[in-house]
Amino acid sequence: MKLSKSNKLYKEGRKYIPGGCSSFARIGHWFDPFNLFMEKGHGSKIWDVDENEYIDYLIGYGALILGHRHPKILTAIKKQIENGTLFGTPCELEVKAAKRVCKLVPCADKVAFCNSGTEATMQAIRIARAYTGKDKIIKFEGHYHGHHDYVLFSVVSVPPIRGLDWAPHKLPYFPGIPEVTSQSVIIAPWNDLPSLERILKKNPNDVAAIIMEPIMANNSIILPKEGYLKGVRELTEKYGIVLIFDEVFTGFRAALGGAQEYFRVKPDMACFAKALGGGVPIAAVAGVDEIMRYVSPGKIPIAGTFNANPLSLSACLATLEELSKNDGASLRKANSLGKKLMKGLQQTIESTGQEAIIEGIGAMFQICFTKLETITNYRQFNLNTVDFMKFKRFHHEMLQQGIFFHPDPGERIMLSTAHTKKDIDRTLTAAEDVLKKLPKETVTVLP
Ligand code: PMP
Repeated sequence: MKLSKSNKLYKEGRKYIPGGCSSFARIGHWFDPFNLFMEKGHGSKIWDVDENEYIDYLIGYGALILGHRHPKILTAIKKQIENGTLFGTPCELEVKAAKRVCKLVPCADKVAFCNSGTEATMQAIRIARAYTGKDKIIKFEGHYHGHHDYVLFSVVSVPPIRGLDWAPHKLPYFPGIPEVTSQSVIIAPWNDLPSLERILKKNPNDVAAIIMEPIMANNSIILPKEGYLKGVRELTEKYGIVLIFDEVFTGFRAALGGAQEYFRVKPDMACFAKALGGGVPIAAVAGVDEIMRYVSPGKIPIAGTFNANPLSLSACLATLEELSKNDGASLRKANSLGKKLMKGLQQTIESTGQEAIIEGIGAMFQICFTKLETITNYRQFNLNTVDFMKFKRFHHEMLQQGIFFHPDPGERIMLSTAHTKKDIDRTLTAAEDVLKKLPKETVTVLP
């Protein structure tokens, strides 16, 4: 595999960009020695600057739900460029896109657009605080909601400093987060109703919102236990707390209406980004009228130069229109191809004698090299239970067979509507070859 141009760019980038690139999940120790610089994509394929071709299962961290360069998105963007990229006024596209989101998403009586998942969760939390007049939020251990201070606690909580299972320590993810911010955040274990109720009993009056990923997608894929989401919904109703689903990954992916449609549990508010724009920067905060009606000038403001910019909206609307065709048939196909891939990988794991499990829902899933039979909470996904280095080797070998996904086992494998049965077959052939070669034993820190 030739990587001379990528390697040269990587070295050059490190001279001018802190860490070598502007988002910390893109290069670094997981990728070494394959710090790839991509040049172009088409459908389910992607090419690096050295002209290596891959089937793309990173798919823009989930954003490219229709694959690369979907013709409808290209046409929409080109047309909008001809008309103008920014007006600083409302535009028809905004109304049309909002109408679509409200039609598709169960909790969306109203929706406001912004530019990234980070902004969307920040806005949703502020709206919930203003609406309830309370300051605290509950966030779950292992959940990621973007890069603003209020949610950068206990995204990763390494043993042994993480505290008790039912009372996790609050650990800032990065330096630079003020202690005062920490005071308004309570950390709870996810997929554990009794512990959540215990925390709510201790804090009955001051929690504005509970925010969660309805499917955990940032520490591998962890599904909610049967009835868990419904149980949280009931608790939030009992305690008068706003329930926010962070659907940045699950939105327009798990189902057209997101995880709330998939699991039939309606939150009060939801945040979207990634697939909403089909590959351009756009995000949204949606919610029930009872809350969203207070989002207006002089009440709870929402603002941003690039919020609902016509360029992003053109791609967003094209994406939503395309996904909505035939009642969501293309998304259902992506999910069923993903299930085929999950099943094929599970069979290959068994036939090659590997110790590994596959968790997910089709269009987003992950492989964990572990002796465990299932992973239902964040604490089961760590160096003591999962062979992270084997995953890295698996990734590196698959990459050399033309299969591209993220090397960090805490990330995930994702499909778009552009993936084909041929892609799945090629991936399974490569996986069989690689899984045969990898050592059988699962190496974890503790036996
Ligand atoms: N929420 C979730 C669940 C995410 O996975 C992410 C990003 N991976 C974000 C929020 C932040 O989104 P963005 O990177 O667009 O700011």
